Amino acid sequence: MVRTADVVVIGAGAMGCSIAFHLARDGAGNVVVLDKGGICSGMTFRSGALVRLHYTNPHEARLAIRAREYFHHWEEIVGGDCGFQNTGFLFVVGPEDVEKLHANVAMLRGLGVETEILSPTEVREAQPFARIDDVGAAAYEPGSGYADPHKTTLALAEAARRYGAEFLTGCAVTAIRTAGGKVIGVDTADGPIDAGTVVVAAGPWAPKLLATAGVTLDIAPTLAEVVYFRRPQETVMGHMVYIDRAAGSYFRPADGRMTFVGAGHGGPTAGDPDHLLDGNTPGQEELARARVAARIPAYQPAVYAYGHQGVYDTSADGKAILDRAPGVEGLFIAGGFSGTGFKKSPAVGLVMAELVMGREPSIPITPFRLSRFAEGEPVRGAHEYGFIESAQLSI
Ligand SMILES: Cc1cc2nc3c(=O)[nH]c(=O)nc-3n(C[C@H](O)[C@H](O)[C@H](O)COP(=O)(O)OP(=O)(O)OC[C@H]3O[C@@H](n4cnc5c(N)ncnc54)[C@H](O)[C@@H]3O)c2cc1C
Repeated sequence: MVRTADVVVIGAGAMGCSIAFHLARDGAGNVVVLDKGGICSGMTFRSGALVRLHYTNPHEARLAIRAREYFHHWEEIVGGDCGFQNTGFLFVVGPEDVEKLHANVAMLRGLGVETEILSPTEVREAQPFARIDDVGAAAYEPGSGYADPHKTTLALAEAARRYGAEFLTGCAVTAIRTAGGKVIGVDTADGPIDAGTVVVAAGPWAPKLLATAGVTLDIAPTLAEVVYFRRPQETVMGHMVYIDRAAGSYFRPADGRMTFVGAGHGGPTAGDPDHLLDGNTPGQEELARARVAARIPAYQPAVYAYGHQGVYDTSADGKAILDRAPGVEGLFIAGGFSGTGFKKSPAVGLVMAELVMGREPSIPITPFRLSRFAEGEPVRGAHEYGFIESAQLSI
């Protein structure tokens, strides 16, 4: 029997679940979410889940600001628990980036963000275990931290269900069906579903799916590795979340007195999202340890607990694509998050639902249109930091 839906959402990661929650809550009708695995079985599960606002352009910052309001007031807005930990956040730069840091903090303060510049000595006062001789300055956000990506996604899915959305897991979409320039549904391993609206929120798998509707999404899978260490005595009571350009890493506390460290292969290294290691490739443990110990020397002898690989869905400018698919009415894309989507997922769900329902997105998303690449208008901050070879600092 052919099933029907008003809206099909492909992918039950943080994005798909957030989109479904907002669609169902705001009256989009019969919303069906399909995932070839389970809820939160893709890259969201592997995410660092840092929640911070420090961006170099106002467009991403606005999404992150709105989304952090959800993390702060999760129970009222979504319900359930997202595991948000308000540890405070430091964006650390070397002396060469101090001017840019000041400019970006000024831009963020103009958007209403509570953030301030800390001198190296102030960093040391806030985090007495930190080495500061290579620090130029740091941007501090008292209201930021990290969340639990699994709990967040399950809570969004549960909220979507409460509003009537249906989830079909273990259900792979094999093709997006179109006729006369319009979407008419999807084919799945369990049979077709008719729908006039389809939203693709399939992470690094999105290009393959969109190709079935004749749409090209130019994103590259970038392999990222993370390592968990047991926290040494010096930080046993915790530490802030760091994105540390000077040390070339990002790290945060994790459950069970652990520290999660982004090691990573920088650059456009191919990564196959269907064949990722639960574990690390040789050398990653040492790399991660060296990077975190470069900021907090007590990690030099830290005990390795475990690690895993993940894949970023990297777009040409490292920014998201939030748009209608060109040439196919009723088809929408939320992708290309380039390793920095989790923290924005509540706001992405909001604006995508608005776009799908024909409303004006409450946060401007025109900068994230797909055509910006052909138009030569990538999303760029006025004071972007340079790329660091072999570090994964987009998060
Ligand atoms: C190692 C790592 C660390 C990160 N750290 C951070 C961070 O600290 N902060 C931050 O903001 N962001 C971070 N990110 C990025 C963030 O996790 C992602 O941007 C976000 O989780 C993407 O969510 P998504 O729902 O788009 O994708 P996914 O979670 O990958 O979900 C896509 C879903 O689509 C499903 N799917 C795919 N193909 C099909 C099909 N044919 N049929 C049905 N279902 C299908 C998959 O099974 C999957 O469940 C990190 C990412 C990685 C990999």
